[in-house]
Amino acid sequence: MKQTDQKITIALTGNPNSGKTTLFNTLTGSRQHVGNYPGITVEKKEGLVESAGYVLHFVDLPGTYSLTAYSQEELVARNFMVRENPDLVVDVVNAASLERNLYLAVQILELGAPLVLVLNMMDEVRKKGMTLDTGLLEQRMGCRVVETVARQGKGKKELIDTIISLNSRKEDFKSPLEISYGPDLDPALKEMEDIIRENAFLTDIYPARWVALKYLESDEEIISEGRRKSPDTSTRLEDVTNKVADHCLKTLKTYPEAVIADYRYGFISSLLKDVVTRDQQRQRIEMSDQLDKFLTHRLLGPLFMIFVLYMVYSLTFLVGDIPLSLIEDFFGWMGEVVRRTMPDGLLQSLVASGIIDGVGAVLSFVPLLMIIFFCIAFLEDSGYMARVAYMLDRVFRYFGLHGCSIMPFIVSGGIAGGCAVPGIMAARTLRSPKEKLATVLTAPFMTCGAKLPIFLLLAGVFFPANQALALFLITLLAWASALLVSKLLRATIIRGAATPFVMELPPYRLPTLQGLLIHTWERTWQYIKKAGTIILAISILIWAAMTFPQLPDNGFSDEEIQGVIAERDFRGLNTAPGFPANTDDITLEEEQIELVLAERQLAHSYAGRMGTFLEPVTSWAGFDWRINISLVGGFAAKEVIISTLGTAYSLEAGEEDDPTSLSDHIRQDPDWDTKRAVSLIIFVLLYAPCFVAVVAIARESGAWRWAVFAMVFNTVFAFGFSTAVYQTLKLFI
Ligand code: GDP
Ligand code: MG
Repeated sequence: MKQTDQKITIALTGNPNSGKTTLFNTLTGSRQHVGNYPGITVEKKEGLVESAGYVLHFVDLPGTYSLTAYSQEELVARNFMVRENPDLVVDVVNAASLERNLYLAVQILELGAPLVLVLNMMDEVRKKGMTLDTGLLEQRMGCRVVETVARQGKGKKELIDTIISLNSRKEDFKSPLEISYGPDLDPALKEMEDIIRENAFLTDIYPARWVALKYLESDEEIISEGRRKSPDTSTRLEDVTNKVADHCLKTLKTYPEAVIADYRYGFISSLLKDVVTRDQQRQRIEMSDQLDKFLTHRLLGPLFMIFVLYMVYSLTFLVGDIPLSLIEDFFGWMGEVVRRTMPDGLLQSLVASGIIDGVGAVLSFVPLLMIIFFCIAFLEDSGYMARVAYMLDRVFRYFGLHGCSIMPFIVSGGIAGGCAVPGIMAARTLRSPKEKLATVLTAPFMTCGAKLPIFLLLAGVFFPANQALALFLITLLAWASALLVSKLLRATIIRGAATPFVMELPPYRLPTLQGLLIHTWERTWQYIKKAGTIILAISILIWAAMTFPQLPDNGFSDEEIQGVIAERDFRGLNTAPGFPANTDDITLEEEQIELVLAERQLAHSYAGRMGTFLEPVTSWAGFDWRINISLVGGFAAKEVIISTLGTAYSLEAGEEDDPTSLSDHIRQDPDWDTKRAVSLIIFVLLYAPCFVAVVAIARESGAWRWAVFAMVFNTVFAFGFSTAVYQTLKLFI
């Protein structure tokens, strides 16, 4: 040290772990001296820095949170600040948690010490995505603020320069900070300050208000110092303190020191308003974490998820039902127009049943698809879908599926009444091909809305008292089949390890309407464009299978009519009102003739022949050729099963309680019994998906062989199941 050098003494203070020692080491390097504070074991570290003709003498004080003498460290730090009269006090704070750290800084300002605030760990601040307005903080605190990263030695030079420049202006610091401590304490503080000033009580060392505060905080060190100095004044101060403490206990149920701490933190948070800004990304992540406490909660999470899935489902099928029936009505009306205006014959039939029904089948799914795509886009874009997957993943993983498989299952009819086409399309949220494939192949097992009428019909006839229970069991069977078949598939032909679930959940965000609409329309249009052409073609094929070959002659000979009537008589059909009472009267009404004609035409067609051809096999499951035909027709759309069954029995498929209705007939026909009904329910539930769903499977799996597999496998599986159940029931009933 040169003689001319001016010495500046600097006390380094701060909360433990704020980086004080690290800063001290980078500043002073090897020029350190370690000793003890006189009389106690607390270590005293000192170090020197030379710069611009000054010698900076740093003292690394023990880390403290407060300046109230609750511990030896706090006392050492405080005493050094007030008794050794350092030229400057440098408070090192962890800038990443300013609120907590400024508690000490505020007390230093209340003490009237010349403070420089060091915002250390600025690297952490940036990493956390926060920004600090240092200028604003300087202005509000009324002291200089320097940013540092002590571990990297950053900000060292700025700190030294600041210290040197402030040294000449020490006088600026002399007025201590005054904070309001609220209506309960402020008047008492004022009263005590007056007493302290009047008696010049400890004012040579401490500011008057500060002493008053220490009395209120029950600082034993100051109180005993005061008693030594002037017992009378101390007693007066203690009286005021006791009065205030009583009052606080009565009104606020707490002690004055707690009130003081509250007001200090209040002051700090108003100080920090607009100083700390978290960047938006960070803010969103924190908000997401808050939301996830509820949304992925062990109990509430699944409950909320059930609610959301149910809402999506209801929205799809309740809202979707309106445009759906409009479109269906429209195509029904178009078909009527064609039947009325075009001459009877093949062309009329092709246009009405092949083309219009085919296009109608394509387009009637569009509203459902748009709604489901919209909902999925919302759940995905908002980040909720990832949470659903996260919650369900453990269950579904067991079956070789993925948490995201839930959506396809639900939409396909996991809650009875869905539709497999949007369900299969919903599988595009699955990113792993194997789990997606297993999902797509098993989703059609669910109870879609088109299967419902046949279930309702059979349950109504055979389990009239337990229809709801029957439907519930059917839905349960659908789930069990989907999950077990999936496990089977994933253990055999789609074997492969489960995709590890990425635990990183994206932060929630509010999707934009425009984004949602674009997503929705893109996906819907893909369906219309690609599936449309194929579906139309298949629709025409199915029409042809049920139309060709034509009956050689559409007319009936008298004998034939006699024969038909005799057969209908035998089946008990002609006893219904409106039918001729006996075989002598052969003028059948035209409608009846048409019904019988349709039946014969159907039986004569390829589809009909297939039904007859299959009868020896399907009889194992209790199905006759008429049921077979309707099941073949059901491939077009499951709704068709009932109408085809009606045609095959030359019955109106329609209303109940109409003696010519299908349900009435089934009730009376001795061929129909409970075991056949149960077997048929199982088969309809599980056999080949309708061809629109098959096309969807081909599209989503990217391979027709999987679509073919779905048709063949599901039919074989369904038939095996039905046969087993039918044969077992046969042993008992
Ligand atoms: P003290 O208790 O205030 O003396 O704190 P230390 O100097 O012992 O530092 C506590 C911890 O904070 C140590 O692990 C340091 O390496 C670390 N640390 C100090 N300064 C910084 C900094 O600027 N950035 C980061 N990220 N860590 C720091
Ligand atoms: Mg230390």
